[in-house]
Amino acid sequence: MAHPYHHSVSSARTWGGDPADYQAIHDFMDSSKAAIADFRHRAALHHSSGIFIAERVFGHVLTNSAGRIVPVRLIAEQHVKEDLGRIPSFADWVRAIRPEAWMGPRSALERDILDGSAS
Ligand SMILES: [Zn+2]
Repeated sequence: MAHPYHHSVSSARTWGGDPADYQAIHDFMDSSKAAIADFRHRAALHHSSGIFIAERVFGHVLTNSAGRIVPVRLIAEQHVKEDLGRIPSFADWVRAIRPEAWMGPRSALERDILDGSAS
């Protein structure tokens, strides 16, 4: 699913009300597209921690235009599942980062983990 509007339509289908009821949450989840326009933007908020960040920003629940109270976390979870098919952790994203020299010197622990010699 590419555009936040389509996530909003899906949310309205799931919990009722109007897509506009959910637009701000889906816009927030995809706001990292402003920094990087391809799928890698998802590393910023498309994970379990990002879902909890959305809850802190928007509160625990929203009341949609049909009067139904919907947990914000469920809306953000739906967004991530629609994009990725599951909810990864932030650690899942970090493991996919290829270390570069400018990121800082590697510690002995990092060397062991990245080189596969950690027990
Ligand atoms: Zn997204």
